[in-house]
Amino acid sequence: MVSERAYAAVALNRPIRTEFTYAVPQPLRSSIAPGARVVVPFATRREVGVCVRVLGEPGMDPRRIRPLERLLDEEPILPGDLLELALWIADETVCSWGQAIAALLPASLKREVARRSIVQIEATPGAEGALASLETDWPKQFRVLRTLLEAGGPVERVELLGRTKLSWSPVLRLRKKGWVRIRRVPVTSDPLLEGEIERGPPPRLTPEQEAARDAVTAIVRERKFGGFLLFGITGSGKTEVYLRALEATLAARRSAIVLVPEISLTPQTVARFRGRFGEVAVLHSRLTDAQRFDQWRAIREGKARVVVGARSAVFAPVRDLGLVVVDEEHEPSFKQQQVPRYHARDVARRRAEIAEAALLLGSATPSLEAWRDAQEGRSRLLRLPHRVGGGSLPEIRVVDLRRETGPGRAPTLLSRPLLSAVRDAVRRREQAILFLNRRGFAPVLYCPTCAATVRCDRCDASLTYHRRHRRAVCHLCGEEEVPPTKCPDCTAGGLLFLGAGSERVEDLVRREIPGIRVARMDSDTMVARGAHEGVLGPFRRGEIDALVGTQMIAKGLDFPNVTVVGVVSADTALHLPDFRSTERTFQLISQVAGRAGRGPKGGVVFVQTHQPEQDAIGFAVRHDYEAFAREEIEGRRSAGFPPFARAVRILVEGKDEDRARATAVRIRDRLLGSSPAPEPGKSPALPFEVEERPLGGLAPGVQILGPAPAPIARIRGRARWHLLAKVAPPSTLAAIRAVLHDVAEGSWPGCEVTVDVDPVSVL
Ligand SMILES: [Zn+2]
Ligand SMILES: [Zn+2]
Repeated sequence: MVSERAYAAVALNRPIRTEFTYAVPQPLRSSIAPGARVVVPFATRREVGVCVRVLGEPGMDPRRIRPLERLLDEEPILPGDLLELALWIADETVCSWGQAIAALLPASLKREVARRSIVQIEATPGAEGALASLETDWPKQFRVLRTLLEAGGPVERVELLGRTKLSWSPVLRLRKKGWVRIRRVPVTSDPLLEGEIERGPPPRLTPEQEAARDAVTAIVRERKFGGFLLFGITGSGKTEVYLRALEATLAARRSAIVLVPEISLTPQTVARFRGRFGEVAVLHSRLTDAQRFDQWRAIREGKARVVVGARSAVFAPVRDLGLVVVDEEHEPSFKQQQVPRYHARDVARRRAEIAEAALLLGSATPSLEAWRDAQEGRSRLLRLPHRVGGGSLPEIRVVDLRRETGPGRAPTLLSRPLLSAVRDAVRRREQAILFLNRRGFAPVLYCPTCAATVRCDRCDASLTYHRRHRRAVCHLCGEEEVPPTKCPDCTAGGLLFLGAGSERVEDLVRREIPGIRVARMDSDTMVARGAHEGVLGPFRRGEIDALVGTQMIAKGLDFPNVTVVGVVSADTALHLPDFRSTERTFQLISQVAGRAGRGPKGGVVFVQTHQPEQDAIGFAVRHDYEAFAREEIEGRRSAGFPPFARAVRILVEGKDEDRARATAVRIRDRLLGSSPAPEPGKSPALPFEVEERPLGGLAPGVQILGPAPAPIARIRGRARWHLLAKVAPPSTLAAIRAVLHDVAEGSWPGCEVTVDVDPVSVL
């Protein structure tokens, strides 16, 4: 007898754009269904995959088909809408269906056994004494132990390895020597869910907030798709609009997902949602497998109907999704930097379309993609042009650093106007925030004799001096050394530490304003769990006068007593050879400025720059996002960059420079059809050489730039070459999808090839 369910098409987490057919053993046929996990033989191994279709006919020689071994779910774990979403992601980001599905599932569902604990590492008592003995001969162990000693307590494995950029083996060596302890710690509760619940009567809405809520609510009730862009200045009460729209969604007996950047997923954020809704599921990167699975199951069973989380929460298996909110939608962290390289904003839109739900994007500085969608009617623009409580945006003053630095005067890191404003604020018992998007003490070690800078041996980067550790550190690979006293090029002495990092700013503030209480927040100081709260708590209570930090302090912080904000250098992002650098600069200045003047005392922002005439700075100073967007969008249109074209970046990395370049050329030729390769040995100039030839007759409107060395031409001793394909109407991504899959799945000996559709960075 022929069974309708005799075969299953199974998607595996492998970079092969096909599904695999397995025979379903008789006893499993009644329960197999799309969305169920199965264990299958693959080559000589067993793998967990997901059934995506059940079939009556195998569509191939049945004798070549092996049976699947186990069915892991009696009920399909993945609902149909998520399977469909995964297929869309596979198409959009150029990966396999199985890879996209793997990104949707919590890790514990991809294994047969789930982990219920985390690994912590801690320095043993007395390990300080060992530090000096490791310094010269065992630099990696030294880095691990120093990091642990600084943290002053247990550090999680992922955190430690991420922070030191090292492998696990130096940790094991240290354990052997008895200087660290490694333990598995069972984790049952999530610290984000343990904090206080913020309760109180909800504030009265302004007329604009009310209008925004009503527009979104209507769509949720009508059960159809509708996209919205909530364009509200900093402090205009966007979150309250989200909360009210969520209330309405629950009242309509539907569920909701709220995406926030990982960095804003703080106890305060969560407390606010829990205060309003009680049962809220929270998904973030620090959950253990088991915690994530518990949350996932609660959501799947309909116990939690509001989900708050970072990027991957867009996949939460809620029932009857009615609303997806993406807060700070312009944040680059919504883009995943590994396969599948999806952008959560785009996935949120697709998911809302499938679910016939409302999509609400919010930002004070919308991405040009979201802005153009609103301009062209693909989403509706909702404006919050005023701060709640009637406060106004802070005054922004530009400090021209060229004037601050006269002849014979050392370059100024903190200008006189900024310093005296901080001084006055402290005197008035108010607070200040100083922002600089660079950690360490000095980003450049410079030889005045031969004008060389000290660079990393393995990367295309100069070493940053970290004074606290007296180390020169490469921020790309983590390698560090004792700073040389002589120039590596000409052996002259007298190397200078130039430029500014957050460590130097902190140091300077202390020296210039004696008695000031300063704290620094950057990834150097925030290693231990709870370190953020350890600084933000005292700052909130007024026990700290000034906060110095990197992007960690650029957004979300809401402290009414902050009246002075300094952007120490507005130029750091401007010179990056990336088509998004102007947009990024505008966003950063606006977001940082938004930390000032959130209380009745008002505030003032100082933006220090060597290029006050830059457009991004001028528009930010005038708080004029719309004029900025108009101009920047025009620039993108004429250059043919997103949002007017899809961009696909193909990065080739390899130990051997010539091979990486040759591979990039081969890929270019494959994209172009079959054009002859160019002369070997000639490197096109930066950033890209424009390739005029049409794409093998395939698609008009497709342009290939490059190959060229990537702006960061080497990391960890690996050469990096890249190409950029721009796909503009009348062509679409679909026109070159097959060849992109071909490139992504291809075998490129000695090289690693990455295909990134609509990259957020091309460095
Ligand atoms: Zn020199
Ligand atoms: Zn390096």
